[in-house]
Amino acid sequence: METFEVLVAGAGPAGGELARCLAQAGVSVCLVDRLADMRQAAFSSAALPLASVSRFGLPAEVLAASWHGWQLLGPNAIWHQWQQQHALGAVLDFGALRHWLTVQVQALGGEVRLASSVVAVETNSNSNQLITKLRDPHGKITKVKSNWVVDATGQSRCLIGETSNLVKDHLLLGIGLEWLLKVDMGRWQHWSKKLSFALGSSWVPNGYGWVFPMQPGLLKVGVCRLPPPWQSKQLGGLALGLLQKQLLKKLDLGGATVINRHGGVIRSR
Ligand SMILES: Cc1cc2nc3c(=O)[nH]c(=O)nc-3n(C[C@H](O)[C@H](O)[C@H](O)COP(=O)(O)OP(=O)(O)OC[C@H]3O[C@@H](n4cnc5c(N)ncnc54)[C@H](O)[C@@H]3O)c2cc1C
Repeated sequence: METFEVLVAGAGPAGGELARCLAQAGVSVCLVDRLADMRQAAFSSAALPLASVSRFGLPAEVLAASWHGWQLLGPNAIWHQWQQQHALGAVLDFGALRHWLTVQVQALGGEVRLASSVVAVETNSNSNQLITKLRDPHGKITKVKSNWVVDATGQSRCLIGETSNLVKDHLLLGIGLEWLLKVDMGRWQHWSKKLSFALGSSWVPNGYGWVFPMQPGLLKVGVCRLPPPWQSKQLGGLALGLLQKQLLKKLDLGGATVINRHGGVIRSR
């Protein structure tokens, strides 16, 4: 059985970056993800200031676009804009970021196991080491030994589960979806160089919508609902897809070609 100091379950931005730092520090690390190709998980489109791009040493290949300012669409349909001549930050290409992190881990001597789902961890009573069971797409189980296991599987929390501590943590539970749109260059230019947010219940009840520029001709448009806990039953009440279509229509993006749809649970403070 192969042995590592640390096994990191989940190669999202958290797990990938942790494994990269560990490998850089010379720690033997095994990074595991159930996806066969990390570029598949392109959901999310985080915007960073330029200082963070250089702090994390992110290369151009993980940056989808730059932004020079923000614009907020208020409840009364008035845009509020702040813009600089020069770039202030970048929008990440999450698929490219995840892929790049795995490549980095390997280049630094770490092990990366894709297409492997973490199914369980047990303690080896003789050695105090942890034994993690991994399942490949054909159902074959392999075991990996390590001193530490980190659950970085995002919302699936495959090992830590839904503990009562999380409930006490007062994280606001929400749900979001995002579509990758192909638009003509005129329309792309209209939304490029800025991060746009539609705030207020006239756009998305208990939530907000956004338009982020991606590579030329591509935009990411999404909606997220974060109702207060006493209204959380309403999460499923208003179909997000419908809200998304309404927002696209209001923003004159209704006719754009949708080339990818993704979404999921969002927990926020
Ligand atoms: C629609 C939407 C829009 C968002 N927009 C933004 C945004 O604009 N800015 C922002 O900062 N954040 C945004 N987020 C949130 C952001 O995506 C998350 O905060 C971020 O992805 C969390 O990173 P993570 O590494 O913790 O988990 P994840 O990115 O969820 O990564 C977890 C990884 O674990 C893997 N995995 C899961 N289960 C297993 C298993 N059993 N075995 C092996 N691997 C497993 C998954 O395949 C995945 O690769 C958005 C989220 C959604 C859903």
